[in-house]
Amino acid sequence: MNKPKIVILGAGYGGIITSKSLEKLLKSGEADVTLINKHEYHYITTQLHKTVVGTAADRQIAMSIPNLINPNKTRFLQATVSSVDLNEQEVHLEGGDTVPYDYLLVSLGFEVETYGTPGIKENAFEIRSFRSSKAIYNQIIKQFNLYKQDQDPSRLTFVVAGGGFTGVELLGEFADGMPKLCKEHNIPFEKVKIVAIEAASSVIPFFPKQSIEYTTEVLEKMNIELITGRKILKCSPEMVVIEPNWEIPTRTLIWSCGVKGNTIVHNWGLPIVRGKIAVDSYLRVKNINNVFSLGDCSLFMKDEKNALAPTAQVALQQAPVCAKNIVASLRGESLKKFEYHHKGSVASIGLKVGVGKVGSLSLSGVIGAFMKLVIEARYLFNLGGPSLIIKQHFGVDRAPIKVTAKVK
Ligand SMILES: Cc1cc2nc3c(=O)[nH]c(=O)nc-3n(C[C@H](O)[C@H](O)[C@H](O)COP(=O)(O)OP(=O)(O)OC[C@H]3O[C@@H](n4cnc5c(N)ncnc54)[C@H](O)[C@@H]3O)c2cc1C
Repeated sequence: MNKPKIVILGAGYGGIITSKSLEKLLKSGEADVTLINKHEYHYITTQLHKTVVGTAADRQIAMSIPNLINPNKTRFLQATVSSVDLNEQEVHLEGGDTVPYDYLLVSLGFEVETYGTPGIKENAFEIRSFRSSKAIYNQIIKQFNLYKQDQDPSRLTFVVAGGGFTGVELLGEFADGMPKLCKEHNIPFEKVKIVAIEAASSVIPFFPKQSIEYTTEVLEKMNIELITGRKILKCSPEMVVIEPNWEIPTRTLIWSCGVKGNTIVHNWGLPIVRGKIAVDSYLRVKNINNVFSLGDCSLFMKDEKNALAPTAQVALQQAPVCAKNIVASLRGESLKKFEYHHKGSVASIGLKVGVGKVGSLSLSGVIGAFMKLVIEARYLFNLGGPSLIIKQHFGVDRAPIKVTAKVK
């Protein structure tokens, strides 16, 4: 008898943890599992700011997927998904191949939201993936080299758009990592300008006043120029224009102002609500019993009006429940409802301090930085056990990952 085919699209947080959970749940020979991802590596999105500034080795952030899964239980296919045919139950790949499925999980993540701001798509850099973060690193080095030729100060002005968690983490990493990078490339660090632009009246506006004040103080002490309460109007290769019509000459704008669900899923006949795949309380796509979706590309309503936020925490809590429900579906058993439990959020501000909230406890300073390390270590533990933590922190192979990240 043919075994049921389970196909997982995307090996980000949601996809890889679902495949690891399936490895544990499925009996030998019960189903064929295929994991499809466009790159050979899985990356730690929550650490991408380190790739941007070069403060972590590539292999600490991006890890080979075949090394993370059990090849006897999961088949890995490096390929880019182009579409899904729901009637034929087939996944179409770039290049023309198709992969049949009986059960499908769509976990294709997010895209950057530009809100239609002129020039962003063409000229700004995105902190979105390992590849796009590597492209920012390459851009910094390119601008360092060009500065040596023309001494144009705009080459040493780095602008971060968005003062949310990601923006703050990036600013802190810039401030801490830039002196070393400048030294390595013979650039006078005192000429480097780091500017943050946030449309709201403060950075991390959704946090308690005390955390906002702490973060603002730390960033200012780091000599970051904070501009709040002003929107970006447009961006060209040479400058950013902000309200009311201020021009900031720069060659490097890093856009970190929000995300939306991956738009590739829009034309597949799936129910799309608010730009994402609408799922029921079992993480099944609404009215399609053999297709599941989780993470940033899916819309899970926590109540009548509000959806869960696109965070790694949500994807990681959904993944084991989704795996259970896929297995229950193929065994004809009853499915489990997904319930989200918010554990808190912590952002690093450079190497030594952090800010956030865990449970009802507000954290800042060294304790905040330590908590961020604990959260990251916990993820590595779930992904590959204690050996992965040791390998990532102590025995990491520092050879660069093969990635083609072009500069603009
Ligand atoms: C810089 C940054 C910092 C963040 N920090 C935090 C944080 O501190 N805490 C937190 O909770 N959340 C954080 N987030 C959000 C978090 O990273 C996302 O919510 C999480 O990655 C969502 O997981 P996912 O599995 O849905 O998608 P992803 O992790 O994005 O995985 C999607 C996967 O699909 C692959 N893929 C996409 N398209 C295709 C295709 N066509 N074919 C094949 N493969 C494809 C991608 O390569 C990727 O591997 C951060 C996000 C960013 C960008």
